[in-house]
Amino acid sequence: MNTDAGIYNYSAVLMGSPILLKLFDDNPTLARQVFQLIKQQENLFTVNRAESEVMSINHAAGRHAVRVSEAVFRLISVAHAVSVSPGSTFNFTIGPVVKRWKIGFQGRAVPPANEIAALLPLTDPHQVILNAEDHSVFLQQPGMEIDLGAIAKGYIADVVQAFLRQQGVPQALINLGGNVQTLGAPPHEPQGWSIGLKKPFGRDDELLGVLQVQGKSVVTSGIYERYFELDGKCWHHIFDPHTGYPLDNELLSVTVISDRSLDGDIYTTLLYGMGVEQGLAYLADQPDLDAVFVTRDQLIICSSPRHFQFQQRDVNWQLRY
Ligand code: ADP
Ligand code: MG
Ligand code: MG
Repeated sequence: MNTDAGIYNYSAVLMGSPILLKLFDDNPTLARQVFQLIKQQENLFTVNRAESEVMSINHAAGRHAVRVSEAVFRLISVAHAVSVSPGSTFNFTIGPVVKRWKIGFQGRAVPPANEIAALLPLTDPHQVILNAEDHSVFLQQPGMEIDLGAIAKGYIADVVQAFLRQQGVPQALINLGGNVQTLGAPPHEPQGWSIGLKKPFGRDDELLGVLQVQGKSVVTSGIYERYFELDGKCWHHIFDPHTGYPLDNELLSVTVISDRSLDGDIYTTLLYGMGVEQGLAYLADQPDLDAVFVTRDQLIICSSPRHFQFQQRDVNWQLRY
């Protein structure tokens, strides 16, 4: 724990990510409860360990359905719906591809093209059978694997927010490795929370600018979070489910401002797949969602900023609305 100006910061490393909790009370017991809650949730959803509810579904692929808890069933149902929606680049059955690339883990290398092609038939979200009656999930083919990596942190950030609200906490911020969820605004800061937008591939303290929000979630997904470089290319961890290769477009990062962090996590992946032009057109019809796109040609493009303010810090980048 460390404090500055009445803010109490508590940190941990969970889900392979740095976790930061900001409170305005010195309350280590509450912080411990929050970290415990995150651990408990991680244990349901992780696919980076041998055992979890999601892993029990994966282990039974091609053999039988597995009953899971209501929370896991609900999150899988959301992931399924987003994955089968027309034109979606979100696919929660991307697991075999993610595991093969091992981006962010040891042993990373560009897999042979024929191996990637052979995995694609195992990433068909239509081959996941959900039974709402007994909360069971069946992966129809052996080798299929659910991966909730694109939404678990957002979902868990919302769980933490609900817990803090239930505990009567008026103002707090939780950052789950890039998924920020907030409660209220800090005292004496009427513009709200200031959340840094990182300079892609920069140092941790190098910011393109600062977003200000109140009671909103801010989720960033960028190709500079988990990646490796080889043959002059940046191989990152957001995949095009149609090719099995990392999505390759003009984007370096997408940030989504929304009420629920789950939505932020879903939409960063979806908008990543859409790119700037299609993404902005899509957002025009979404009054509850805002986004900031950061591109390879040094542009910072804000969708109509209804739910946030942006203060630019790095003048080498061009800001557009
Ligand atoms: P993080 O916040 O950890 O950087 P993201 O929210 O950006 O993660 O999601 C990236 C993760 O989502 C990957 O590590 C992988 O587990 C999973 N993933 C990768 N590509 C896709 C995709 N097209 N659809 C759904 N999930 C994906
Ligand atoms: Mg994320
Ligand atoms: Mg995501």
